[in-house]
Amino acid sequence: MPTQMLRGATLALAGLLITQAPLAAQRGGGDPRPPIFPTPEQFAASASAKMHVDAARKLAGTDLSKEFENTCSSTGPQRVALARQAAGLPPLKDYTVEPTKIFDNVWFLGLASQGAFVITTNQGLILIDTLNTTEEARDILVPSMQKVGLDPAQIKYIVLSHGHPGQTDHTGGANYLQRTYKPRVMMAKEDWDATLPAQRPERPLANRDMDITHGQTLTLGDTTLTFTILVGHTPGTLGIFMPVKWHGESHVVLLHGGGLQHPNRESLNRFQDVISTYVTRMNAEGILNAHPGIYQDTLADMEAIRKNPAGANPLLYGRERAGRYWKMMTECAEARVIAMEGAGGRTQ
Ligand SMILES: [Zn+2]
Repeated sequence: MPTQMLRGATLALAGLLITQAPLAAQRGGGDPRPPIFPTPEQFAASASAKMHVDAARKLAGTDLSKEFENTCSSTGPQRVALARQAAGLPPLKDYTVEPTKIFDNVWFLGLASQGAFVITTNQGLILIDTLNTTEEARDILVPSMQKVGLDPAQIKYIVLSHGHPGQTDHTGGANYLQRTYKPRVMMAKEDWDATLPAQRPERPLANRDMDITHGQTLTLGDTTLTFTILVGHTPGTLGIFMPVKWHGESHVVLLHGGGLQHPNRESLNRFQDVISTYVTRMNAEGILNAHPGIYQDTLADMEAIRKNPAGANPLLYGRERAGRYWKMMTECAEARVIAMEGAGGRTQ
């Protein structure tokens, strides 16, 4: 077998092992680790979880039915690749997405499986997430930015939405960008602490620069981001409240760094707290994630925006619909914790 093919096969195997880990943990069985999520059977069997699922279904009505399906399962919103794997479907072929101006001041750039966001301000750019590796940052992210006239030398801050020990999705391109363009690099303190000691020599992380704490803000020129820590996917997964404009009108959206909110009381309490204070106070009208498809059909939504930039923005739900969406999310998160506790699973 030629070396190139062998390397490809090894990489594919490594990817498979990584993506299978949460499923193995979910199944319990021969896996020595405690389960992270209730099984679909445990989720369906819990009468008190069902009360919350029913409440969520009612809130969803017909205009949030797809979101209800994505959210009110035993695992909650998850990466498309994992969901397909669980359903026994073949993996989708990845590709570079046409850079998309999802709001007047925000671009999505990167791959169909995972992207990054650039926020434009009157004093430079903020980049959120950096793809998987140096190569992807150099060969996909930077050329995508240049293609639409965004100068990587103008990146003033890189915000990493979260990091997993030993894995580099979201964080892997930051080392290259930090060395090349000298921006400040920010991540939650908890995730710097967890990822730096576990970094792999072939995928070096960025040098630790700025720590993010719950409730902190970042202002660059005319734009202020508010950071919350949504404990659960990792100890320091960020919920970033982002001011956006669409056709000149101001809105706020929440960029949730991690789709999977592990069902324990600590993560539920923080989630409810962030919804009842930050989301409500800022009237957040939409949710984003670096992995398209976790929360909504993002690739289709972005295509719609590219085809008709003068139209309504499908990523903005409007206040009334968004209000029901957040309540529905909370009901589904609570149902998962109750099912998990009822199954005697790990709740801390
Ligand atoms: Zn993650």
